[in-house]
Amino acid sequence: MQPSFAQAPDRSEGADLAFTDPLTGLGNHRRFFGKIDRLIGDRADDPAPFAVCILDLDGFRPINDLFGRKAGDEILAQVAMRLRAATDAGSTVARVGSDEFAFLYPMVFSEEAAAERARMLIEILSAPYDVGDRTARLSASVGCSLFFSGEETTEILVDKAETALYLAKRSGRGKVIVYTSEMEAAAKRVTHIEQALRRAVSAGEVEPHFQPIIDLATRRIRGFETLARWTDRDLGVVSPGVFIPIAEERGIIGPLSQLVLRKAAEAARNWPTDLFLSFNLSPSQLVDQNTGLHILAILDRTGFNPRRLEIEITETGLMNDPVSAAKIITDLRRCGMRISLDDFGTGLSSLGRLREFHFDKLKIDRSFVASILDDRPSEHIIRAILSMCEGLGMEAVAEGIEKEGQAARLTEFGCQGGQGYLFGRPASAETTLGVLRDSVRGAASTST
Ligand code: C2E
Ligand code: CA
Ligand code: CA
Repeated sequence: MQPSFAQAPDRSEGADLAFTDPLTGLGNHRRFFGKIDRLIGDRADDPAPFAVCILDLDGFRPINDLFGRKAGDEILAQVAMRLRAATDAGSTVARVGSDEFAFLYPMVFSEEAAAERARMLIEILSAPYDVGDRTARLSASVGCSLFFSGEETTEILVDKAETALYLAKRSGRGKVIVYTSEMEAAAKRVTHIEQALRRAVSAGEVEPHFQPIIDLATRRIRGFETLARWTDRDLGVVSPGVFIPIAEERGIIGPLSQLVLRKAAEAARNWPTDLFLSFNLSPSQLVDQNTGLHILAILDRTGFNPRRLEIEITETGLMNDPVSAAKIITDLRRCGMRISLDDFGTGLSSLGRLREFHFDKLKIDRSFVASILDDRPSEHIIRAILSMCEGLGMEAVAEGIEKEGQAARLTEFGCQGGQGYLFGRPASAETTLGVLRDSVRGAASTST
């Protein structure tokens, strides 16, 4: 009689190399997937839940680099031995990636119980490893998912555990996350927004709005920052803080950005020619060598002078692939565009970056501006940033100015540019044109 799989020891298929990981002797991903397939089949009439967990060693690569590949393999074999010892007869452990192990627990019925098992595994792996006369330490992150209904396939279960693992990794070392229905709802919402956004971009329904950037000393408008706006039929107004990251993650940022830039350049053609247009580029666009060509093609088609365009980038955009970013920036600057460093003061704000890249402008993040009146450290930081800008020949623009007092203080410290609700909220192309006409008329009537 074929033994029921739950009692079958891993060695039942041991002779079959196609199902075995040669380094550790554990089952490989094929055996693991096969086991889940069979368990789902077994549970068709008996809807008891079960758990799948995926464990990933934290920072294993540096260990490999530090101790050498052979020692790395030895540690992996020790890890496998500990994990095998910690797995009861009915359960399965397999090696499914270089430093990734997977577990199937047929008798774990709840999210709490799965998390409990996962924490125990991390604990077991945390004891030191002998590598020759040295010792190494490891931590691990685990993502788990539970099988609740016959509708789930092996792929879906493993995907959910991978998603949970990804979130665990993102929240630091040694973390356990179990995939929950809330995560499922959040993932569904993201997918819904993604689909609606794809449709909106092809239908040309994302619009540029414009927020004035002024000269603090004279309060005259110098240019406008382009900010994307999207209202969906079903979802209503979706904030760029939500849809821009989704566009980035799901590969829609390129077409979205081109649509918004085209519309913005068409609108800005009707402005006085001494006004600039500022445009945000996302980090992933600084990895794509076609970005520069796309921008130039749009400017060419709309007849917008590149010398009137400023490109805002953040430090994150420079970090992913500094060489690629540097090339794109150099190309854009060669065509006459100016480059601003956005959100300065958040993130890492590595000063070294300011030596490697040349920026024309630096935008001081609104978190400093918000506290400039009641917080001494913010005041000192802003003053230091301004004197650094002066030394490096960069113009400074303070973002998020909402109060007269903030504007006055910034002017006193020598900040040239300002942006914020005090001077104007982002507005449609039509409203912006109206504002510009009024200000020209206002200037004409005061000069007569
Ligand atoms: P950001 O580039 O830092 O843009 C400035 C944000 O601050 C805008 O938010 C603007 O509406 C808001 N803001 C301006 N003045 C004030 C103020 O006085 N007080 C407060 N509390 N907020 C102020 P918004 O429009 O929601 O955009 C959020 C972010 O989305 C932007 O941050 C930018 O990173 C991104 N984004 C917007 N449009 C685009 C786009 O077309 N392309 C890309 N890649 N990113 C965009
Ligand atoms: Ca910006
Ligand atoms: Ca900003």
